[in-house]
Amino acid sequence: MNLIMGSDCLFCRIINKEIPADIVYEDDDMLVFKDIDPQADVHLLAVPKKHIPTLNDVSSEDDRMLGAIIRKLGDLARQAGIAEGGYRLVVNCNRNAGQEVFHLHYHLLGGRKFSWPPG
Ligand code: 5GP
Ligand code: ZN
Repeated sequence: MNLIMGSDCLFCRIINKEIPADIVYEDDDMLVFKDIDPQADVHLLAVPKKHIPTLNDVSSEDDRMLGAIIRKLGDLARQAGIAEGGYRLVVNCNRNAGQEVFHLHYHLLGGRKFSWPPG
C-alpha cells in the first residue's frame, strides 16, 4: 500500500488536479471540494493530501493534520450558513459503512434535517 500517493486513487487524482473538482478550500495538508452527487444542500468532502485509505489506517503522526481538518470544517459550516441550524460530519469506514472511495474523507452535510439512527 502506498501511503504517499495512490496513482489509481480518485481523490489523489483530484488532489493532483488530474481530475477537476469544485474546490472550496486548499492548504498544504488538505483539500475540500463539493461532492459530485450531493445528498444535501451543502455536501462537502474534506480529504487529507496524504493518501490514507481508511480511518483504520490513521496514526498518531496524523493527529495535528486531522484536527486541523475538523476545525476547518467548522469554519466552512459557518461560512455556508449551516452552523446554527446544524449539520452532520460523517466518515464511512469499509464495507459495512458503504465506503466507496478508499482515501480517507469527511463528509460535511447540511441544509436539511437528518434522521437518526442513520440508515
Ligand atoms: P464514500 O461512500 O466513500 O464515503 O463517499 C464517496 C463520495 O465521493 C460519494 O459521496 C460520491 O458522491 C463522491 N464522489 C465519487 N466520485 C467523485 C468525483 O469524481 N468527484 C467528486 N467531487 N465526488 C465524488
Ligand atoms: Zn488517495
